[in-house]
Amino acid sequence: MTEHDHSHDHDHDHDHHHGHDHDHDHDHDHDHDHGPSAEEFERAQAEAIRRRALQQIRQYPDPALRLRANEVEIFDEALMNLVERMIGLMKDAGGVGLAATQVGILQRVFVFEPDEDGPKAIVNPVLSNVGSDKDSDEEGCLSLQHVRVEVERPTKLTLSGKDPEGNDVTHDLEGYGARVVQHELDHLDGVLIIDRTDAASRKEALGTLRPRPVLTEPVLPR
Ligand SMILES: [Zn+2]
Repeated sequence: MTEHDHSHDHDHDHDHHHGHDHDHDHDHDHDHDHGPSAEEFERAQAEAIRRRALQQIRQYPDPALRLRANEVEIFDEALMNLVERMIGLMKDAGGVGLAATQVGILQRVFVFEPDEDGPKAIVNPVLSNVGSDKDSDEEGCLSLQHVRVEVERPTKLTLSGKDPEGNDVTHDLEGYGARVVQHELDHLDGVLIIDRTDAASRKEALGTLRPRPVLTEPVLPR
């Protein structure tokens, strides 16, 4: 059930930089008395940050999103830096999870933050104790902008793997948290939400995706 009846005009990229292309460092010398309010300014700034983050996240149909990521074997500073960068992007983009494949890195790593507990990272994740109960809910994806589709997933599981330092970690998850980590683990196998929804929703989603410009640079596997 899609209650979002978003009008399908995807031209709402009204970039606010018409006359002025430098959004920063302009000295505030406007002499009109009602400029944007503090909230408007903050909102515009958050939106600029979100867009900048999304531009660094591979967008469908980027081929990197369809590749299977490799097991991580070396736990080094580069891995820590990757995790840090991914957590920053996830937050800036307003997401609750981000997989390395979404930034073009084919390593089995994802970050997630389904609750107020703070962001977590998991390397070489594996699911176990997957419960038989399933639940369907709408999901979005930072790589499939403007798409929301129903996805059915088990509601309970255990996620195990390593933290970026190479220590074993285990998370028992239910509900939303379980959903988020299954979504992210799918990314590491090249699976997207459009593969996990019904045919009608997939068709609608692909229609939504088709007219979008590709926001990323050309893909160069690293
Ligand atoms: Zn996603």
